[in-house]
Amino acid sequence: MSVHDTIIIGSGPAGLTAAIYATRANLRTLVIAGQVAGGQLMLTTDVENYPGFPEGVQGPELMELWRKQAERFKGEFVDENVTKVDFSKRPFKVGVGERSYEARTIILATGANAKYLGLPNETRLKGRGVSACAVCDGFFFKGLDVVVVGGGDTAMEESLYLAKLCTSVTIVHRRNEFRASKIMQDRVLATTNIRVVWDSEVVDVLGDQRVEGVRIKDVRTGATSDLVVRGLFLAIGHVPATEAFEGQLKLAKGYVVLKPHDGFATATSVEGVFAAGDVHDFRYRQAVTAAGFGCMAALDAQQWLQTHAG
Ligand code: NAP
Repeated sequence: MSVHDTIIIGSGPAGLTAAIYATRANLRTLVIAGQVAGGQLMLTTDVENYPGFPEGVQGPELMELWRKQAERFKGEFVDENVTKVDFSKRPFKVGVGERSYEARTIILATGANAKYLGLPNETRLKGRGVSACAVCDGFFFKGLDVVVVGGGDTAMEESLYLAKLCTSVTIVHRRNEFRASKIMQDRVLATTNIRVVWDSEVVDVLGDQRVEGVRIKDVRTGATSDLVVRGLFLAIGHVPATEAFEGQLKLAKGYVVLKPHDGFATATSVEGVFAAGDVHDFRYRQAVTAAGFGCMAALDAQQWLQTHAG
């Protein structure tokens, strides 16, 4: 089995941009794209803030174009999930089921996924009123009442988006203050069809075939009450997709920790392993920033290969 110059794990904006740069630099590149290729933009509808599309573009269409561009320069693609990795020595090993691939450098670009509360009925009713993406699913709740859980910027953004479509939005937050930026809080609190239930948690999702309500608990008194709503939107953060990398390099709260050195801005705690996009970036989390990181990681890998024999 021959050794690749680089294996890129992930095929969202970061992974595919890394692939474009790596293949155009003539690196022997393998992209392990994942079973659900394309990343979070595959779950989005209108993307209006990605430069170059004055009228906006649909998330899946953008990712399809991106993939075609990445495939143009002869990278190899495997549409499966990585099951294990060995970064303890070079060449690095990346396992996909029974198969194993080797590479002199690795670019981690597996992104992050939305967090859920972990309630059994929440799982059962996913896609039937339970969502973690207002932009993707808000349209289905036009003229209805919905709940948003969370107190960060995402919760504010999702609530404002939903308030334009829905009759009412109730934000359920577990504390008595938001952690969102002041400007976002102000916008939310000034929106007449958004109300906030403070100090409360969603403890159950009600409904047989679809969401018909949520049960909430006041965390100060323990009292429970039911809200009649047709949608439950979770906006409680994201979990980086790094399970397969545990114990192989430094992670913090699941995110890959960058260890920039010698001009390699995307370097990780393992020499020759680089990271790009939401897998390390919990702050910006934008397609355009992930793409930028993907470019940087490919340039770093290329430069690193020039200066390291093994
Ligand atoms: P976040 O800032 O981590 O906020 C998550 C929120 O969910 C917090 O209010 C947290 O409550 C709550 N939460 C977490 N786990 C929970 C649980 N199990 N049950 C109930 N509530 C739970 O996440 P985010 O809002 O996704 O934002 C992530 C980062 O992206 C932030 O840096 C944010 O500023 C940034 N962002 C920026 C924009 C923008 O500028 N337009 C938009 C979106 C995101 P506690 O407050 O009690 O911890």
